[in-house]
Amino acid sequence: MSAIPHTGSYYAASANDKVERARLQESIEADVCVIGAGYTGLSAALHLLELGFSVVVLDAARIGWGASGRNGGQIVNSYSRDIDTIEKTVGKEQAKLFGKMAFEGGRIIRERIAKYNISCDLKDGGVFAAMNEKQMGHLRHQKQLWESHGHMGQLELLDGKGIRSVVNTERYVGGMLDKSGGHIHPLNLALGEARAVESLGGKIFEDSAVLRVDEGDNPVVHTATGSVKAKFVVVAGNAYLGKLMPELQAKSMPCGTQVITTEPLDEDLAASLLPQDYCVEDCNYLLDYFRLSGDKRMIYGGGVVYGARDPADIESLIIPNMLKTFPQLKGVKVDYAWTGNFLLTLSRLPQVGRIGKNIYYSQGCSGHGVTYTHLAGKLIAEMLNGQATRFDAFAALPHYPFPGGHALRVPFSALGAWYYSLRDKLGV
Ligand SMILES: Cc1cc2nc3c(=O)[nH]c(=O)nc-3n(C[C@H](O)[C@H](O)[C@H](O)COP(=O)(O)OP(=O)(O)OC[C@H]3O[C@@H](n4cnc5c(N)ncnc54)[C@H](O)[C@@H]3O)c2cc1C
Repeated sequence: MSAIPHTGSYYAASANDKVERARLQESIEADVCVIGAGYTGLSAALHLLELGFSVVVLDAARIGWGASGRNGGQIVNSYSRDIDTIEKTVGKEQAKLFGKMAFEGGRIIRERIAKYNISCDLKDGGVFAAMNEKQMGHLRHQKQLWESHGHMGQLELLDGKGIRSVVNTERYVGGMLDKSGGHIHPLNLALGEARAVESLGGKIFEDSAVLRVDEGDNPVVHTATGSVKAKFVVVAGNAYLGKLMPELQAKSMPCGTQVITTEPLDEDLAASLLPQDYCVEDCNYLLDYFRLSGDKRMIYGGGVVYGARDPADIESLIIPNMLKTFPQLKGVKVDYAWTGNFLLTLSRLPQVGRIGKNIYYSQGCSGHGVTYTHLAGKLIAEMLNGQATRFDAFAALPHYPFPGGHALRVPFSALGAWYYSLRDKLGV
């Protein structure tokens, strides 16, 4: 077969399942055609199948080929902009709904793993690490905020000694542990969800790029070698969607972030770096994120650069950051380096909505995507099943195009990255 292969990641090398699905070669019908087999598409498909819809999923490349199979694997609750920022736009009452949903994505992931027996190295516990007192103040506020929305008993502030007991570095002044955060092997989660979709009768085609969608009462989704006639279409291509839906392109921008994975560490060394096996992200705008894999490699990510990069560049970008955090890793070999795209919006909140009568989408969660996409899939399924309240709450969030339109989106993002890295360096 000729499907675009997975990126050269540690995850692709350690995938549970290397079975390739067929390319769509016929004209078929289903209640719902989902474009994109990442978490958004797979979560929507699985929830829809559970509700009794028939579903076909099409991916241009492979299941989990996009961000869902390449990410840091960190289960991070809430949204890229927090509930207090959302409240300023939607008001107090509606903000309560967002507050209620803020930890749901992580619960959906755990429920999926348990229900469908998905083997993906799930570990509980995520740490937000503060580089300075200002960030620590932000974490105190975040704890209060999340608790005020009912998320009690999960969060624990860590002082200097506390954070060193869970991350063996001098870099942080403190942090916050979210016991309902955690980490997974992201590609194996996607592959497990795909198997669950198929176990419920859903069909998944790989190597099946959607080239055109004909709108209408029964929209038709076309690939080069087949088509799907459906009652509803779900667009879940996120940062890899390209120009398929021009109305979705203007208000978002694909950004690359890079990850490296070391060789397996000596067990004592691994346990000394992250004694509780929590995942960690710092509180910078351009953040570092890291954790141990199931086989005790250090998986370290960071940097936001537009577009693809070659692995040697990625190593020179990320290794210095990793050694700043863990000088103990000097001399350890890096086995894998890769890049992946997530989708940034100007508000950093997801874009959710409907095109025409029956084409639904969610994209652009700008971070926190592992949890949000799982929630998004459920909200889309609710919407198609006649329960619109939660979907509509997201759909009502305002979005604006990037200044300068297409031509200036990349320079604008480079300027933004420079500005944020300066703020991080100055600690403001
Ligand atoms: C390197 C990296 C690290 C990250 N780390 C984290 C993290 O630790 N925690 C966190 O919460 N978030 C993280 N994220 C973000 C998170 O991974 C994403 O937000 C999330 O996976 C997006 O899922 P998705 O299904 O919307 O899109 P994707 O997973 O990108 O899936 C989109 C799919 O659509 C397909 N597609 C696109 N166009 C078409 C078409 N025309 N026809 C058919 N198929 C099409 C693509 O092939 C792709 O498989 C990270 C992202 C990256 C890139």
